[in-house]
Amino acid sequence: MNRREFIWKTALITAAGSLFSGRAWAQQAKPTGFQLLRDGVGIFTGRGGTIGWYLSDEMVIVIDSQYPSSAQKFVKELTGHTSRKIDRLINTHHHKDHTGGNGVLKEAGARTIIANENVPRLQKAHNSTSENAEIQTYADRLFKSNWRMSLHKESVSASHYGAGHTGGDAIIHFEKANVIHMGDLVFNRLYPFIDLKGEATIPGWISVLEGAAKIYPSDAIYIYGHGKEGFGVTGKRDDLLMMRDYLSALWETVEADKAAGKSLDEMKERQGLDGFSDFSGGWAGAFQANIEAAFREMEAETVA
Ligand SMILES: [Zn+2]
Repeated sequence: MNRREFIWKTALITAAGSLFSGRAWAQQAKPTGFQLLRDGVGIFTGRGGTIGWYLSDEMVIVIDSQYPSSAQKFVKELTGHTSRKIDRLINTHHHKDHTGGNGVLKEAGARTIIANENVPRLQKAHNSTSENAEIQTYADRLFKSNWRMSLHKESVSASHYGAGHTGGDAIIHFEKANVIHMGDLVFNRLYPFIDLKGEATIPGWISVLEGAAKIYPSDAIYIYGHGKEGFGVTGKRDDLLMMRDYLSALWETVEADKAAGKSLDEMKERQGLDGFSDFSGGWAGAFQANIEAAFREMEAETVA
């Protein structure tokens, strides 16, 4: 094995290891704890996907739950900001860095967990081979395309626009505060996790982002599941279009490579895409995994 091969193999093993241990995105954003964004809506960054929250005297709503340990830290911080218990928890999708703390938040009051109807099934499958299988807490209020609740001071909705990052993505909109939680539909300048087993689809993902950029206000604050340090886990609509453009370029590049007769291994010799130098990996081999996902999705389409 030459040095180059050695580096590749090591990178792949590291990538697999970090995925399976669920630590893939743990270190991306610096922990900042609680941060208010606007009108009672804010974020909590700990370990895993960014938690969103809404606090008022009439309701406490939480978006996503990270892992059990960071969910405990979140609850501890939360009690310093409100005397209310959590009323509702909304999951943006099934991945364990977004749902692993569901049980902790349920104990902290969340009587209802809301998610797209595909989430419990995908969550079960996602965890079926791990020791996490028995300790899952599943959403109990499921919606197909839209859920909405009006409060005196705020209205909040959760919408599913078809498969993208997973088969059960939801975008959460705090309408008055004008803050939108995108879940993992945006990895802000990070190579995303493209989970074909979790029913991810790159063309679907592109069209969901395209639609979201049209539907939601341009002056909204957007929250992302993950973000590169320096770019962060919140931003503006342009970030959605940047993510869309990256996925489009990825798809087109693999399509062109296939047409040129390149093998998957040859495609994976690429180190990035032209015009996307801001992007980097949450883990070694993340970009090559993106290439492989595009390749496999295309192959599956050809077979079907
Ligand atoms: Zn995810």
